[in-house]
Amino acid sequence: MTASLIDGAALARSLRAQVAERAAALTARGRPPGLAVILVGEDAASAVYVRNKVKDCEESGIRSVLQRLPAQTPEADLLARIQALNVDPSIHGILVQLPLPAHIDTRRVIETISPDKDVDGFHVASAGALMTGQPGFLPCTPYGVMRLLEHAGARLAGAEAVVVGRSNIVGKPQALLLLQADATVTICHSRSRDLAAHTRRADVLIAAVGRARMITGDMIKPGAIVIDVGMNRDETGKLCGDVDFDSAREVASAITPVPGGVGPMTRAMLLVNTLEAAERKR
Ligand code: NDP
Repeated sequence: MTASLIDGAALARSLRAQVAERAAALTARGRPPGLAVILVGEDAASAVYVRNKVKDCEESGIRSVLQRLPAQTPEADLLARIQALNVDPSIHGILVQLPLPAHIDTRRVIETISPDKDVDGFHVASAGALMTGQPGFLPCTPYGVMRLLEHAGARLAGAEAVVVGRSNIVGKPQALLLLQADATVTICHSRSRDLAAHTRRADVLIAAVGRARMITGDMIKPGAIVIDVGMNRDETGKLCGDVDFDSAREVASAITPVPGGVGPMTRAMLLVNTLEAAERKR
């Protein structure tokens, strides 16, 4: 079997076009959606992520406000800026780019963002809403994965879904979303015994680990749908996922590539969340 490709770049493009249309409608009524992005320090990768987010906003008709702060910014200053943005009616979403410098308490920063502007979905109120099935913002990566699965025609009800990775921003919320969709969910992590025994049972396999090509074709059930969240550099510096794409695609029925799978969807879902925040405020 050669798996079909789940094209995250194309799906993200169509989502961006929908966001642009809805953003234009809000703007025409004098209420342009607005996203505030705060970057603290000089981390090169963070600077690239932030640049991309600002560019995505511009292309989708979302007004973005970028605040670049020096690495030595005191935590109290950062919290005060967030509090000001919380009450700014022109701002509908607030994103603080992570990681933050070591002297700043990341949890405190995230909890200072008003939950109704928490478009990253990292606030404990957003996590609690997801856990209890209440409306709230979903973290962009697992939200994007659910859209990819829908696009791929995955039948989740009753399916065996295995998530490898249990971080607060990917693995755990991913597992909850799959559970909400009536899958039978297994979460694996670094202490799981016999990882392959779990992954081989998966009708839907989500890899969110951060280890280049660790999931090989022999660990995949024939016909499975495989979503590769990982973003790693291999020994030659090439971008690759957690899944060994070449061996996996011989076994799976559908698979996301890296790049061009989950990454563009994560970016697109931030726009979707920001737009929804603005529409709720209307
Ligand atoms: P974390 O490092 O926070 O979590 C990694 C998880 O993988 C942990 O739960 C860890 O287990 C588990 N793990 C580590 N080694 C193994 C192993 N040998 N077997 C099974 N599980 C293991 O990473 P993130 O969740 O933030 O990100 C995961 C990957 O996804 C990274 O490559 C990251 O770059 C990428 N990513 C991609 C995004 C995109 O848009 N495409 C967005 C976000 C992340 P334990 O808890 O026991 O330590």
